[in-house]
Amino acid sequence: MSTEQSDESDLDKQLLAAVDQVNLTDDFQGALSALVTAASRLLACDGTSVMWLNDDELEVLANNGELAPLSGLSLPVSQVGAARTALDSNRPAVVHDTAEDARWRCIPGEERVRAWLGVPLLLGDRTIGLLEWTAREPGWFGDDDIEMAAALARYAAPILHRTQLLDDTRRRLRELIEPRPAKPAQMQDVGAALQQVTREALVLTGARHAFTFLKEEESLRLRCVAAAGPQRQELRKAVLRGDGTFGGLTAARSVLGRTGTGSGAGPADGEVMAALGITNALILPLRAEKEQVGMIGVAEPDVGRSFDQGAIRLMTQLASQASLIVERAYQSRTPSDGYDYETVFQSSPLGLCVLTVAGDIQACNPALAGLLSRVDRNLVGHNLSGFLVPGDWRRLAHALEEVVFTDQRQQVDTRIQSAQGEQRHVRLTLAPAPSLAGSSLKAQAAGQRPGEMGATLVAVLEDVTSLKILEQERVEHLRELREKHQQLQDLDQLRTRFVSNVSHELRTPLAVIKLYATLARKGRPEKQTYYLQTIEQETHRLETMVENILDLTRIDRQTLRLHPELLAAEEIIAQVLEVYQETAEKRDIELQNHVQGNLPGLWADKNDLIQMLTNLVDNALKYTPRGGQVWVAAREISPDKSSSQLGPPQAGQAGQAAHDLELGDRPMLEIAVGDTGVGIPDDERDHVFERFYRGQNNTPERTGTGLGLAIVQELIAQHGGRVALKSQVGQGSVFILQFPLVQPVDASQ
Ligand code: ADP
Repeated sequence: MSTEQSDESDLDKQLLAAVDQVNLTDDFQGALSALVTAASRLLACDGTSVMWLNDDELEVLANNGELAPLSGLSLPVSQVGAARTALDSNRPAVVHDTAEDARWRCIPGEERVRAWLGVPLLLGDRTIGLLEWTAREPGWFGDDDIEMAAALARYAAPILHRTQLLDDTRRRLRELIEPRPAKPAQMQDVGAALQQVTREALVLTGARHAFTFLKEEESLRLRCVAAAGPQRQELRKAVLRGDGTFGGLTAARSVLGRTGTGSGAGPADGEVMAALGITNALILPLRAEKEQVGMIGVAEPDVGRSFDQGAIRLMTQLASQASLIVERAYQSRTPSDGYDYETVFQSSPLGLCVLTVAGDIQACNPALAGLLSRVDRNLVGHNLSGFLVPGDWRRLAHALEEVVFTDQRQQVDTRIQSAQGEQRHVRLTLAPAPSLAGSSLKAQAAGQRPGEMGATLVAVLEDVTSLKILEQERVEHLRELREKHQQLQDLDQLRTRFVSNVSHELRTPLAVIKLYATLARKGRPEKQTYYLQTIEQETHRLETMVENILDLTRIDRQTLRLHPELLAAEEIIAQVLEVYQETAEKRDIELQNHVQGNLPGLWADKNDLIQMLTNLVDNALKYTPRGGQVWVAAREISPDKSSSQLGPPQAGQAGQAAHDLELGDRPMLEIAVGDTGVGIPDDERDHVFERFYRGQNNTPERTGTGLGLAIVQELIAQHGGRVALKSQVGQGSVFILQFPLVQPVDASQ
């Protein structure tokens, strides 16, 4: 540098001021322009720029001064010799005279550069970019300048890196918070629009050729999409590999290796274009969505050797215009992956909607209207709660808030109700909408309810009614199976218990018979009659037992069919009592018949009725000591008629107790058999109807099988009635048979 030297402390101050300037900005673009301004203030020159290293390309991110490369320009490192020296060595590089330095390769528009200084921007030993100064005069940069430049680059690099990271983080956050626009811009005819721009480039720069190339999405090659000039037909057929040999333009970084730089099949890009007579070209990159997507260029200026500053400025404008056209075309494709989500939304068979956290519908598809049985189809503005079965909203409202607060999906099963009142089961899958993450975080941070911040959710509704019905049927079926299984198990247990009881009970009289038969043969002759009487008695007991067992077995197998007939119960009662009259007298027990007048006709099996009464009267006599009383009473019970007195007037408490029985609301006939006998203790009352159960009140004289009451219970059940018991120890017992006064239905018919 030929200007006056500043002293060392001044330089330090300048450097500090420059670094401070960069440090004070906290966004990347701000830091870049601060750096480029600081750099041009630090070293007086004709151009300064900051270049960023993206793999093998240097991209101009900020510039200042007349002789700086255009902002947005991307240059392959392989094409910029001097810069490459700096980057390869990680040290400053100087070109004192561009005319005499073999490393210097002129970039179109920078023909006036005679001196160059480049300093790599280093992060540790990683190069992130390049800071460069250009000057018109050769030998402009001295050793001090190099030192100052290096110091500035050393301080600025980490600051730039930090602000870039910050920017990146901010961008991602913004992407999360701001959803993509629902309706993309209309697709434009890109080719036609670019053709117009290309033609303008030709006319306005006075070049011989003008062309625009775009990267193909599939192959990433560059295809000519617009051309003007005498070679336009040929140019339109041109496809370049993006090998960097023409205008420094490269294909996507990821396929750089595949396309190679001049290697591989076919001619290099430079050769392809040279074959069309294009060697001296001014080329600018086209950018869309932050990617280099193509290039626009003019070639072979008509006037003079090279394109002047005016042409460069013009082309810069046209390049940004073309970039905008491409950018819009990119946006008009539905969100980046090319799917038409609007069509998916509209034609989905699932009900889809966007909800606020309060349940207000903000958008919905036709399937949702169908699901909710709404003809008008316009549900926007309605609240989802209005479509639910009353009472189901609470749970859903809770789930909506849960989704907003946790940012997690939720699934809720609920029921909807149509205007006609028809109910359907619906499964809702709720997910936070793209903007939700930010909103909920903000809402929490501000201590507000998310609804107030406008948080939204996406809900997918699926009709699961048929699934639910199937599920219910399955549960019902399973329950029935379980019940059947339980019944079978119970029956099996009963049978096992029955068989073991039978064998046990039969053994007792058999043993007695066997013993007394032996005694009859070998015992004392004078006791022969006693022996034979006992054998006869036990044989009778055995016979009764076998009869009872057979009855029960038949009842169990339901082979004991009812033969119901209309009976006069008072007659049957009188017959049974007559049979027992003699026995009662022998035992000094008064047998009383309290049945007065005619009872209503009773539909019953005569034999069954006789057996039930026989069993009960037999027991009453058996469990009543001498001098006691046994009585039978009967009455009609009717829900609308007042019932007559049941039992003898002198029956005392046991007779009175019969009135406390719970009676059904059907007309009934009650027959009570009562006694003033020993009674049954409370804890045995539930057991006396069990098969083979014999109570504590039994003595050796009171022989029995423990089957009498079990048979009574089974038989009365077959008649659609029931048996009840009231008893008090020492006072007596009353067994009450309750018959419905209707013709019984024979289950076996
Ligand atoms: P059992 O052959 O032993 O009489 P039941 O099945 O007829 O068998 O009766 C079961 C038990 O109920 C009897 O063993 C007895 O303890 C009790 N029981 C039945 N009827 C009366 C009654 N009228 N008074 C007292 N206890 C009775």
